[in-house]
Amino acid sequence: MSRKIKLILLGAPGAGKGTQAEIISEKFGIPAISTGAIIREAIASGTDMGKSAKSYIESGALVPDSVVIGIIKDRLAESDCDAGFILDGFPRTVPQAEALDEMGVEITDVISIEVPDEKIVARMSGRRVCKKCGSTFHIEYNPSKNGDNCVCGEPLTIRSDDAPEVVLDRLRVYHDQTEPLKDFYSKKGILKTVIGQEKLEDTTALTLAALEK
Ligand code: ADP
Ligand code: ZN
Repeated sequence: MSRKIKLILLGAPGAGKGTQAEIISEKFGIPAISTGAIIREAIASGTDMGKSAKSYIESGALVPDSVVIGIIKDRLAESDCDAGFILDGFPRTVPQAEALDEMGVEITDVISIEVPDEKIVARMSGRRVCKKCGSTFHIEYNPSKNGDNCVCGEPLTIRSDDAPEVVLDRLRVYHDQTEPLKDFYSKKGILKTVIGQEKLEDTTALTLAALEK
């Protein structure tokens, strides 16, 4: 495929956007940009942005639009995005999507990965992350080759916002604020839907097929 891909991955928290983003990133040699990862790094390194975002993330709420729009504007201005990019976790609200339009960013594809809420709650309890290199795993669906440790050797941890009570809040936020983006992009004629599968490689096959359509 030679066309330039400017892809948005939509989906509930834990639907597998991040994993698909990494796979597509490697296959096509374009950066995967996760606003969640950028914010978590800022929290870990104690920047002003991190300090102001911390309480939102921990309660499962969205970080204010102005903050994430600023993050994306800066990131998309970097030269590696000239070849195309994948947005994982942005936009999450209609104003964020409108901001992309206002920046003149021409998205080529939007893929919504659909997973029912019941499955999301079960999946999140098995999610493990590496604080050192940022890799994510699932104890059942995508285990680390090193068991309880990351492929980089660091012990894996559970993200604080993956606690079951916070997950329910994040799902509510997803349905209220992010799901309307399906309509937004469907009207533009660029929305594709992928049903999230039990097996990671099955979801990947569907995602790649959606990009070829
Ligand atoms: P997940 O996709 O599993 O929810 P993310 O890493 O994408 O995980 O997001 C984690 C948290 O980071 C969100 O719950 C929210 O607080 C914050 N966040 C990430 N991206 C955005 C965004 N585009 N707008 C507002 N908040 C965001
Ligand atoms: Zn690691």
